[in-house]
Amino acid sequence: MPATQSKITVINNPGSGLPGENHRELLQHLGSPTWITVKGRDSTRRRAIVTLLHGNEPSGLIAVHRLLSGDLEPATDLGIMIAAVDAALSEPMLSHRYIPTEKDLNRCFSPPYSTSQEQLAGNIIDIISDYEPEALIDTHNTSAHSRPFCVAVREDSRTQAIAGLFSDTLVVIDQQMGTLLHHLPAGLPAATVEFGGFMDPNADLLATETLRRFISIDQLPHSPGTPIRTLRHPLRLETEHHLDVAYSSSIDESRDLTIINTIDQLNFHSVSAGTPLGWFTAHEHRNLVARNISGKDTYGEYFSHTDGLLQTRVPMTIFMATTDPVVANNDCLLYFTPH
Ligand SMILES: [Zn+2]
Repeated sequence: MPATQSKITVINNPGSGLPGENHRELLQHLGSPTWITVKGRDSTRRRAIVTLLHGNEPSGLIAVHRLLSGDLEPATDLGIMIAAVDAALSEPMLSHRYIPTEKDLNRCFSPPYSTSQEQLAGNIIDIISDYEPEALIDTHNTSAHSRPFCVAVREDSRTQAIAGLFSDTLVVIDQQMGTLLHHLPAGLPAATVEFGGFMDPNADLLATETLRRFISIDQLPHSPGTPIRTLRHPLRLETEHHLDVAYSSSIDESRDLTIINTIDQLNFHSVSAGTPLGWFTAHEHRNLVARNISGKDTYGEYFSHTDGLLQTRVPMTIFMATTDPVVANNDCLLYFTPH
């Protein structure tokens, strides 16, 4: 199994000579984390795009390959970070969020930087800090079906305006999880864009069209053109210890917990108290937690489990609900904001 390389290869002004017929061939040519810069019409300003922090979320990379292979003329200089190339190249290609023996790269941005993944994260922060972009977009796909949305760690009008170029929904996350967004230079307007599910062709199209605009408009907006739906202080429903989680329409008694396999249909919907989410095989509570920003577990306030049925206890908006058992255990089952 390969390992993440901490060194970043730099390619300045590839022109139309960007290698590869498609994003897969591009990745094979790159072979390691890469920073590509492109000259724009106004070289006194710069914008930045980070793609592929997760090796199985290619919409941003597909868009970047399409745009740089075409006749795109950036308004400002442009820097593009293609991050988890090693994870993406692990066979089968584009199937690993991260290399199975390693960590989620988007949880490695808090110093100190000891492992090669953490050193890569530190190098990414250094390159972006030195580049001094006027705005940054970090591209992702969701692990289940979802409408597109943005994530930010601030909600000033500049950040809202940048997010508004990509989606009408902004999630503001205050929990410190070692993500890129939390460790960018202070004052840099930045948003993560979740373009939709990782196999959704609409996500690739949306990434191409919205990134084209982000790259090519002369002036980025300073305030959002249309109102943005903002979801603040979300909580995460997580597993405290490893749970055998299945996604199915009927209970799988060989697992600890079966989550209803259409739970992603609830993403960004308001649900009422008593909405069923799944079934525990044993009837007692099995290690689900929902920690608030001070670390207190609030699971019991917001969820109930009667006779093995896991359900909401209060009205809430659910989003980023996954249908991937690996994500359920290693990241979280879903995010929610109680009403
Ligand atoms: Zn991601």
